[in-house]
Amino acid sequence: MSFDQLEAALQERRTAHLYRRRRLLESPQGPEVSVDGQNCLAFCSNDYLGLANHPALKQAMIEGVERFGVGGGASHLVMGHSSAHHELEEALAEWTGRPRALLFSTGYMANLGVINALLDKQDAVFEDRLNHASLLDGGLLSGARFQRYLHNDAASLKQRLDKSDARRKLVVTDGVFSMDGDIADLPELARTSREAGAWLMVDDAHGMGVLGQTGAGCVEQFGLSQSDVPVLMGTLGKGFGTAGAFVAGSEALIETLIQFARSYIYTTSMPPAVAWATLASLKLVREESWRREKLQALIQRFRSGAQQLGYELMASETPIQPIMIGDAAEAMRLSEGLETRGLFVSAIRPPTVPAGSSRLRVTLSATHSEQQVDRLLAALDELRGGVA
Ligand SMILES: *Cc1c(COP(=O)(O)O)cnc(C)c1O
Repeated sequence: MSFDQLEAALQERRTAHLYRRRRLLESPQGPEVSVDGQNCLAFCSNDYLGLANHPALKQAMIEGVERFGVGGGASHLVMGHSSAHHELEEALAEWTGRPRALLFSTGYMANLGVINALLDKQDAVFEDRLNHASLLDGGLLSGARFQRYLHNDAASLKQRLDKSDARRKLVVTDGVFSMDGDIADLPELARTSREAGAWLMVDDAHGMGVLGQTGAGCVEQFGLSQSDVPVLMGTLGKGFGTAGAFVAGSEALIETLIQFARSYIYTTSMPPAVAWATLASLKLVREESWRREKLQALIQRFRSGAQQLGYELMASETPIQPIMIGDAAEAMRLSEGLETRGLFVSAIRPPTVPAGSSRLRVTLSATHSEQQVDRLLAALDELRGGVA
Protein backbone atom coordinates (compact mmCIF):
# COMPACT_ATOMS: atom_id res chain seq x y z
CA MET A 1 0.00 0.00 0.00
CA SER A 2 1.36 3.41 -0.90
CA PHE A 3 1.15 6.62 1.04
CA ASP A 4 0.03 8.66 -1.98
CA GLN A 5 -3.47 8.84 -0.59
CA LEU A 6 -2.12 10.42 2.55
CA GLU A 7 -0.09 12.90 0.50
CA ALA A 8 -3.23 13.98 -1.34
CA ALA A 9 -5.09 14.69 1.89
CA LEU A 10 -2.13 16.63 3.22
CA GLN A 11 -1.97 18.69 0.02
CA GLU A 12 -5.68 19.44 0.27
CA ARG A 13 -5.16 20.74 3.78
CA ARG A 14 -2.28 22.98 2.62
CA THR A 15 -4.36 24.43 -0.21
CA ALA A 16 -7.16 25.25 2.24
CA HIS A 17 -4.74 27.20 4.50
CA LEU A 18 -5.44 24.68 7.24
CA TYR A 19 -2.06 23.02 7.48
CA ARG A 20 -0.59 22.98 10.96
CA ARG A 21 2.99 22.89 12.01
CA ARG A 22 4.70 22.78 15.35
CA ARG A 23 6.92 25.56 16.63
CA LEU A 24 9.97 24.81 18.66
CA LEU A 25 9.85 26.39 22.10
CA GLU A 26 13.28 26.80 23.61
CA SER A 27 12.42 28.61 26.83
CA PRO A 28 10.02 28.06 29.72
CA GLN A 29 6.45 29.35 29.47
CA GLY A 30 6.11 33.07 30.09
CA PRO A 31 5.15 36.29 28.30
CA GLU A 32 8.57 36.37 26.60
CA VAL A 33 9.62 33.14 24.97
CA SER A 34 12.11 31.85 22.48
CA VAL A 35 10.35 30.17 19.54
CA ASP A 36 12.13 28.78 16.50
CA GLY A 37 15.22 30.68 17.55
CA GLN A 38 13.42 34.03 17.84
CA ASN A 39 12.57 35.94 21.00
CA CYS A 40 8.98 37.01 21.00
CA LEU A 41 6.12 38.18 23.13
CA ALA A 42 3.51 35.43 23.31
CA PHE A 43 -0.25 35.67 23.76
CA CYS A 44 -1.18 32.05 23.25
CA SER A 45 -0.38 30.12 26.40
CA ASN A 46 -2.98 28.62 28.73
CA ASP A 47 -0.69 29.34 31.67
CA TYR A 48 -3.22 31.97 32.78
CA LEU A 49 -1.84 32.62 36.24
CA GLY A 50 1.81 32.47 35.21
CA LEU A 51 2.59 29.46 37.41
CA ALA A 52 4.20 27.07 34.91
CA ASN A 53 7.65 28.53 35.58
CA HIS A 54 7.05 29.77 39.14
CA PRO A 55 9.99 29.24 41.54
CA ALA A 56 7.76 27.69 44.24
CA LEU A 57 6.45 25.10 41.78
CA LYS A 58 9.91 24.30 40.47
CA GLN A 59 11.13 23.87 44.03
CA ALA A 60 8.19 21.59 44.88
CA MET A 61 8.79 19.54 41.75
CA ILE A 62 12.45 19.04 42.72
CA GLU A 63 11.42 18.12 46.26
CA GLY A 64 8.83 15.72 44.85
CA VAL A 65 11.48 14.03 42.73
CA GLU A 66 13.74 13.70 45.77
CA ARG A 67 10.93 12.12 47.80
CA PHE A 68 9.11 10.03 45.22
CA GLY A 69 11.55 9.56 42.35
CA VAL A 70 10.62 10.22 38.75
CA GLY A 71 8.22 7.67 37.29
CA GLY A 72 4.77 6.68 38.57
CA GLY A 73 5.89 3.10 37.98
CA ALA A 74 2.49 1.43 37.68
CA SER A 75 -1.19 2.20 37.36
CA HIS A 76 -3.12 3.54 40.35
CA LEU A 77 -4.79 0.17 40.94
CA VAL A 78 -1.52 -1.75 40.93
CA MET A 79 1.34 0.03 42.74
CA GLY A 80 1.30 3.52 41.29
CA HIS A 81 -1.01 5.40 43.68
CA SER A 82 1.44 7.36 45.80
CA SER A 83 0.81 9.46 48.88
CA ALA A 84 1.53 12.56 46.73
CA HIS A 85 -1.41 11.67 44.45
CA HIS A 86 -3.59 10.90 47.43
CA GLU A 87 -2.82 14.13 49.24
CA LEU A 88 -3.54 16.14 46.10
CA GLU A 89 -6.88 14.36 45.63
CA GLU A 90 -7.89 15.24 49.18
CA ALA A 91 -6.84 18.87 48.75
CA LEU A 92 -8.75 19.19 45.45
CA ALA A 93 -11.89 17.68 47.00
CA GLU A 94 -11.73 20.13 49.89
CA TRP A 95 -11.12 23.11 47.59
CA THR A 96 -13.99 22.26 45.27
CA GLY A 97 -16.31 21.43 48.18
CA ARG A 98 -16.91 17.90 46.93
CA PRO A 99 -16.60 14.68 48.99
CA ARG A 100 -13.92 13.20 46.76
CA ALA A 101 -11.66 13.86 43.79
CA LEU A 102 -9.78 11.54 41.44
CA LEU A 103 -6.64 12.36 39.45
CA PHE A 104 -6.20 11.53 35.76
CA SER A 105 -3.01 11.88 33.72
CA THR A 106 -4.57 14.33 31.25
CA GLY A 107 -7.84 16.16 30.75
CA TYR A 108 -8.43 14.31 27.52
CA MET A 109 -8.22 11.01 29.37
CA ALA A 110 -10.43 12.25 32.20
CA ASN A 111 -13.20 13.15 29.77
CA LEU A 112 -13.01 9.87 27.86
CA GLY A 113 -12.92 7.95 31.13
CA VAL A 114 -15.81 9.67 32.88
CA ILE A 115 -18.29 9.60 30.02
CA ASN A 116 -17.49 5.99 29.19
CA ALA A 117 -17.72 4.86 32.80
CA LEU A 118 -21.14 6.46 33.20
CA LEU A 119 -22.85 5.63 29.90
CA ASP A 120 -23.47 2.83 27.46
CA LYS A 121 -25.86 2.03 24.62
CA GLN A 122 -28.99 2.39 26.76
CA ASP A 123 -28.08 5.95 27.67
CA ALA A 124 -27.95 9.39 26.09
CA VAL A 125 -25.40 12.18 26.14
CA PHE A 126 -26.27 15.82 25.42
CA GLU A 127 -23.39 18.07 24.43
CA ASP A 128 -23.01 21.75 23.68
CA ARG A 129 -22.09 22.16 20.01
CA LEU A 130 -18.90 23.99 20.94
CA ASN A 131 -17.68 21.48 23.51
CA HIS A 132 -14.00 20.59 23.57
CA ALA A 133 -12.97 17.73 21.27
CA SER A 134 -12.24 15.43 24.21
CA LEU A 135 -15.84 15.71 25.43
CA LEU A 136 -17.21 15.05 21.96
CA ASP A 137 -14.87 12.07 21.52
CA GLY A 138 -15.86 10.72 24.94
CA GLY A 139 -19.52 10.95 24.04
CA LEU A 140 -19.09 9.28 20.65
CA LEU A 141 -16.94 6.48 22.05
CA SER A 142 -19.43 5.66 24.81
CA GLY A 143 -21.99 4.28 22.35
CA ALA A 144 -24.71 6.32 24.07
CA ARG A 145 -27.19 8.19 21.89
CA PHE A 146 -25.25 11.36 21.04
CA GLN A 147 -27.00 14.70 20.68
CA ARG A 148 -25.68 18.22 20.38
CA TYR A 149 -27.67 21.23 21.53
CA LEU A 150 -27.30 24.84 20.41
CA HIS A 151 -24.42 26.68 22.00
CA ASN A 152 -25.11 27.57 25.62
CA ASP A 153 -28.84 27.28 25.03
CA ALA A 154 -30.79 25.67 27.87
CA ALA A 155 -34.05 25.77 25.87
CA SER A 156 -32.46 23.79 23.05
CA LEU A 157 -31.14 21.34 25.64
CA LYS A 158 -34.55 21.01 27.28
CA GLN A 159 -36.20 20.18 23.95
CA ARG A 160 -33.82 17.28 23.45
CA LEU A 161 -33.99 16.08 27.06
CA ASP A 162 -37.80 16.06 27.01
CA LYS A 163 -37.84 13.72 24.03
CA SER A 164 -35.40 11.24 25.51
CA ASP A 165 -36.40 8.03 27.24
CA ALA A 166 -32.83 6.89 27.82
CA ARG A 167 -31.92 5.04 31.01
CA ARG A 168 -29.29 7.61 32.03
CA LYS A 169 -28.95 11.11 30.68
CA LEU A 170 -25.70 13.04 30.91
CA VAL A 171 -25.49 16.71 29.96
CA VAL A 172 -21.94 17.78 29.19
CA THR A 173 -20.58 21.29 28.81
CA ASP A 174 -17.36 23.28 28.93
CA GLY A 175 -17.43 25.73 31.87
CA VAL A 176 -15.47 28.31 29.86
CA PHE A 177 -15.58 27.55 26.14
CA SER A 178 -12.06 27.01 24.99
CA MET A 179 -12.23 28.71 21.60
CA ASP A 180 -14.78 31.48 22.35
CA GLY A 181 -13.93 32.30 25.96
CA ASP A 182 -17.56 32.71 27.06
CA ILE A 183 -18.86 31.16 30.28
CA ALA A 184 -21.62 28.53 30.22
CA ASP A 185 -24.93 29.55 31.75
CA LEU A 186 -24.51 26.92 34.43
CA PRO A 187 -27.41 27.92 36.71
CA GLU A 188 -29.87 27.44 33.81
CA LEU A 189 -28.19 24.29 32.53
CA ALA A 190 -28.19 22.86 36.07
CA ARG A 191 -31.88 23.60 36.56
CA THR A 192 -32.81 22.15 33.16
CA SER A 193 -30.75 19.02 33.79
CA ARG A 194 -32.15 18.47 37.27
CA GLU A 195 -35.75 18.87 36.08
CA ALA A 196 -35.16 16.23 33.39
CA GLY A 197 -33.48 13.82 35.80
CA ALA A 198 -30.16 14.23 33.99
CA TRP A 199 -26.67 14.59 35.46
CA LEU A 200 -24.68 17.68 34.56
CA MET A 201 -20.96 17.35 33.84
CA VAL A 202 -18.86 20.52 33.63
CA ASP A 203 -15.35 20.59 32.16
CA ASP A 204 -13.79 23.68 33.71
CA ALA A 205 -10.34 23.41 32.11
CA HIS A 206 -10.23 27.18 31.49
CA GLY A 207 -12.12 28.38 34.57
CA MET A 208 -10.12 26.63 37.30
CA GLY A 209 -7.66 29.05 38.85
CA VAL A 210 -9.16 31.95 36.93
CA LEU A 211 -12.78 32.34 38.09
CA GLY A 212 -14.30 32.45 41.58
CA GLN A 213 -13.09 33.90 44.87
CA THR A 214 -10.53 31.16 45.52
CA GLY A 215 -10.10 30.27 41.86
CA ALA A 216 -12.31 27.18 42.10
CA GLY A 217 -13.81 28.07 38.75
CA CYS A 218 -17.23 28.69 37.35
CA VAL A 219 -19.05 26.56 39.94
CA GLU A 220 -17.58 28.81 42.62
CA GLN A 221 -18.42 31.94 40.63
CA PHE A 222 -22.05 30.83 40.34
CA GLY A 223 -22.20 29.25 43.81
CA LEU A 224 -23.26 25.84 42.49
CA SER A 225 -23.20 22.79 44.74
CA GLN A 226 -22.68 19.16 44.02
CA SER A 227 -26.40 18.62 43.49
CA ASP A 228 -26.30 21.26 40.72
CA VAL A 229 -23.11 19.98 39.10
CA PRO A 230 -22.64 16.36 40.15
CA VAL A 231 -19.68 15.78 37.80
CA LEU A 232 -17.00 18.46 37.97
CA MET A 233 -13.83 18.11 35.92
CA GLY A 234 -10.80 20.38 35.95
CA THR A 235 -7.37 20.28 34.35
CA LEU A 236 -4.02 21.05 35.93
CA GLY A 237 -2.00 21.94 32.83
CA LYS A 238 -3.60 25.35 32.30
CA GLY A 239 -4.25 27.71 35.23
CA PHE A 240 -2.40 25.39 37.60
CA GLY A 241 0.74 25.41 35.49
CA THR A 242 1.52 21.69 35.97
CA ALA A 243 -0.10 18.71 34.22
CA GLY A 244 -2.96 16.27 34.59
CA ALA A 245 -6.62 16.58 35.49
CA PHE A 246 -9.16 15.62 38.12
CA VAL A 247 -12.81 14.80 38.56
CA ALA A 248 -14.61 15.82 41.75
CA GLY A 249 -17.94 14.51 43.01
CA SER A 250 -19.70 12.07 45.25
CA GLU A 251 -18.31 8.91 46.78
CA ALA A 252 -20.41 6.84 44.36
CA LEU A 253 -19.16 8.77 41.33
CA ILE A 254 -15.50 8.46 42.26
CA GLU A 255 -15.76 4.76 43.14
CA THR A 256 -17.53 4.17 39.83
CA LEU A 257 -14.63 5.83 38.01
CA ILE A 258 -12.05 3.79 39.91
CA GLN A 259 -13.89 0.61 38.94
CA PHE A 260 -14.94 1.42 35.38
CA ALA A 261 -13.03 4.34 33.82
CA ARG A 262 -10.68 2.60 31.41
CA SER A 263 -8.46 5.63 30.87
CA TYR A 264 -7.94 5.69 34.65
CA ILE A 265 -7.34 1.98 35.06
CA TYR A 266 -5.15 1.08 32.10
CA THR A 267 -2.46 3.70 32.33
CA THR A 268 0.53 4.55 34.46
CA SER A 269 -0.12 7.12 37.15
CA MET A 270 1.25 10.62 36.52
CA PRO A 271 4.71 11.18 37.99
CA PRO A 272 4.09 11.73 41.72
CA ALA A 273 6.38 14.79 41.67
CA VAL A 274 3.85 16.44 39.35
CA ALA A 275 1.17 15.88 41.99
CA TRP A 276 3.53 17.25 44.61
CA ALA A 277 4.19 20.39 42.53
CA THR A 278 0.45 20.74 41.98
CA LEU A 279 -0.10 20.90 45.75
CA ALA A 280 2.23 23.92 45.78
CA SER A 281 0.32 25.33 42.83
CA LEU A 282 -3.04 24.88 44.54
CA LYS A 283 -1.80 26.92 47.49
CA LEU A 284 -0.87 29.83 45.17
CA VAL A 285 -4.12 29.48 43.22
CA ARG A 286 -6.17 29.76 46.41
CA GLU A 287 -4.21 32.46 48.17
CA GLU A 288 -2.87 34.78 45.48
CA SER A 289 -6.10 36.34 44.29
CA TRP A 290 -4.06 39.28 42.96
CA ARG A 291 -3.34 37.10 39.93
CA ARG A 292 -7.05 36.97 39.10
CA GLU A 293 -7.43 40.69 39.71
CA LYS A 294 -4.48 41.50 37.49
CA LEU A 295 -5.89 39.28 34.75
CA GLN A 296 -9.22 41.10 34.89
CA ALA A 297 -7.44 44.46 34.52
CA LEU A 298 -5.47 43.19 31.50
CA ILE A 299 -8.63 41.74 29.95
CA GLN A 300 -10.39 45.12 30.22
CA ARG A 301 -7.37 46.93 28.79
CA PHE A 302 -7.12 44.57 25.83
CA ARG A 303 -10.85 44.63 25.09
CA SER A 304 -11.28 48.37 25.12
CA GLY A 305 -8.11 48.84 23.01
CA ALA A 306 -9.03 46.23 20.40
CA GLN A 307 -12.60 47.50 20.13
CA GLN A 308 -11.35 51.04 19.54
CA LEU A 309 -9.30 49.66 16.64
CA GLY A 310 -12.47 48.22 15.14
CA TYR A 311 -11.71 44.57 15.75
CA GLU A 312 -14.59 42.22 16.45
CA LEU A 313 -14.28 40.60 19.86
CA MET A 314 -16.45 37.90 21.36
CA ALA A 315 -18.59 38.05 24.51
CA SER A 316 -15.81 36.90 26.81
CA GLU A 317 -14.86 38.03 30.31
CA THR A 318 -12.12 35.44 30.55
CA PRO A 319 -8.43 35.45 29.56
CA ILE A 320 -9.46 33.81 26.27
CA GLN A 321 -10.05 36.82 24.01
CA PRO A 322 -10.57 35.72 20.42
CA ILE A 323 -10.52 38.29 17.63
CA MET A 324 -13.06 37.09 15.09
CA ILE A 325 -11.69 37.20 11.53
CA GLY A 326 -13.80 34.71 9.56
CA ASP A 327 -11.56 33.79 6.65
CA ALA A 328 -8.77 31.29 7.38
CA ALA A 329 -6.26 32.95 5.02
CA GLU A 330 -6.88 36.37 6.56
CA ALA A 331 -6.43 34.93 10.05
CA MET A 332 -3.09 33.54 8.88
CA ARG A 333 -2.09 36.90 7.36
CA LEU A 334 -2.68 38.62 10.70
CA SER A 335 -0.96 35.92 12.70
CA GLU A 336 2.07 36.07 10.37
CA GLY A 337 2.08 39.87 10.46
CA LEU A 338 2.15 39.77 14.24
CA GLU A 339 4.97 37.26 14.12
CA THR A 340 7.06 39.53 11.91
CA ARG A 341 6.64 42.15 14.63
CA GLY A 342 7.85 39.73 17.30
CA LEU A 343 4.41 38.83 18.63
CA PHE A 344 2.98 35.38 18.85
CA VAL A 345 -0.80 34.83 18.66
CA SER A 346 -2.22 31.64 17.22
CA ALA A 347 -4.65 31.59 14.37
CA ILE A 348 -7.41 29.08 15.07
CA ARG A 349 -8.97 27.58 11.96
CA PRO A 350 -11.33 24.75 11.05
CA PRO A 351 -11.74 22.00 12.04
CA THR A 352 -10.98 23.34 15.52
CA VAL A 353 -13.68 25.99 14.97
CA PRO A 354 -16.61 25.98 12.50
CA ALA A 355 -15.88 27.00 8.88
CA GLY A 356 -15.95 30.78 8.38
CA SER A 357 -15.13 31.52 12.00
CA SER A 358 -11.35 31.54 11.90
CA ARG A 359 -9.92 33.77 14.55
CA LEU A 360 -6.87 34.98 16.37
CA ARG A 361 -7.01 33.45 19.80
CA VAL A 362 -5.40 35.91 22.17
CA THR A 363 -4.86 34.57 25.66
CA LEU A 364 -3.72 36.71 28.55
CA SER A 365 -1.72 35.75 31.59
CA ALA A 366 -1.35 37.41 34.98
CA THR A 367 2.35 37.72 34.20
CA HIS A 368 1.77 39.97 31.16
CA SER A 369 2.37 43.65 31.82
CA GLU A 370 0.14 46.51 30.66
CA GLN A 371 2.97 47.61 28.36
CA GLN A 372 3.00 44.18 26.74
CA VAL A 373 -0.73 44.34 26.08
CA ASP A 374 -0.19 47.79 24.58
CA ARG A 375 2.51 46.38 22.27
CA LEU A 376 0.00 43.84 20.99
CA LEU A 377 -2.58 46.57 20.42
CA ALA A 378 -0.05 48.74 18.55
CA ALA A 379 0.81 45.85 16.22
CA LEU A 380 -2.87 45.10 15.63
CA ASP A 381 -3.32 48.76 14.72
CA GLU A 382 -0.61 48.52 12.06
CA LEU A 383 -2.13 45.37 10.59
CA ARG A 384 -5.66 46.67 10.53
CA GLY A 385 -5.80 47.36 6.76
CA GLY A 386 -7.20 44.03 5.68
CA VAL A 387 -9.72 43.78 8.48
CA ALA A 388 -12.08 46.70 8.03
C1 LIG B 1 -7.26 21.52 27.30
C2 LIG B 1 -8.62 20.98 27.51
C3 LIG B 1 -8.82 19.64 27.81
C4 LIG B 1 -7.71 18.64 27.79
O1 LIG B 1 -6.91 18.74 28.91
P1 LIG B 1 -5.42 18.18 28.84
O2 LIG B 1 -5.02 18.04 30.25
O3 LIG B 1 -4.63 19.21 28.10
O4 LIG B 1 -5.49 16.87 28.12
C5 LIG B 1 -10.09 19.22 28.09
N1 LIG B 1 -11.14 20.08 28.04
C6 LIG B 1 -10.98 21.38 27.73
C7 LIG B 1 -12.17 22.27 27.69
C8 LIG B 1 -9.72 21.86 27.44
O5 LIG B 1 -9.56 23.13 27.10
